[in-house]
Amino acid sequence: MDPLDVFLKLCHELGLEQVEEYVYRFSFPGAKKTLLLSALIHGNETGSLHLLIRILQSLGEGGISPSINILFSLGNLSAYHANKRFITHDLNRSFGAVKDNSFEIERAQVLKKILAQVDVMIDFHQTLEPVAKPFFLFPFNEKNILFANALDPSVNKITYQRTILEGTTFSGAADAAGISAITIETGLKGFDPAQINYGFLVFENALEFLNPERENIHSSEYYNLFTWAETVSNPDQQYELVSKFENFEPILKDSPLAHSQDGKVLKSPIDGFIIFPKYGENRNQSKELVSILKSVKSENDLA
Ligand SMILES: [Zn+2]
Repeated sequence: MDPLDVFLKLCHELGLEQVEEYVYRFSFPGAKKTLLLSALIHGNETGSLHLLIRILQSLGEGGISPSINILFSLGNLSAYHANKRFITHDLNRSFGAVKDNSFEIERAQVLKKILAQVDVMIDFHQTLEPVAKPFFLFPFNEKNILFANALDPSVNKITYQRTILEGTTFSGAADAAGISAITIETGLKGFDPAQINYGFLVFENALEFLNPERENIHSSEYYNLFTWAETVSNPDQQYELVSKFENFEPILKDSPLAHSQDGKVLKSPIDGFIIFPKYGENRNQSKELVSILKSVKSENDLA
């Protein structure tokens, strides 16, 4: 059975209310908060769909009993059916765009509408290259840091001023609407039981965070916090990375980063940490080769 059909069947069996196409609502009577769980913003990151299925199953079996409302949202179904990241526009760069006829731009408008009923959101994604551990991304503010630390203080977290990214992401649009919003990259794209377990753990921590019965003591300290320092562009795809870098691998200033066919060498402009290195097909389709992060110790590091 296609996991999408499993998802829809569970939503139906559990009596969830459809609020938009592919957005379903679990309602708790008298709930004070609503958590949005978003999957498939990129159509081929199917691990996020399997995670929502696991959460729905647990809800059905009584394994969890949330005292909040939960919205289950699937982003880009056209891309899912085509097993692609997106069809014409990256949905996760379409939330600030003006309306046109593309499927993704219209879908972004629909998803933006549901934010009006949300207090906190987690947007689940997966990466193109293997990662040793999950990591978080979110616009810089104290509310998001607090929420991220409650979900998992131990993982690496990338934060940024909201205006830095080109186009607006789903979590960026949520953040702009005053919602605590975290994007989680659980690991390499596809079905992976370990990633489902991790996502479920984070979800349980979100329930704890939002439980009105609990006295929560959470920290807004900067644990494992990073921000973008440099992005190495590769418009003609002439450069190739010199080795198989891993995300968050440290790199020293002036050490070789990439080389071209005709022998030119690109060196790291700073001491930092590798993020989103691109190889093979991913490299051939991208204008960016790799980015470099720096540690965030104080708010000034974001400037
Ligand atoms: Zn993604």
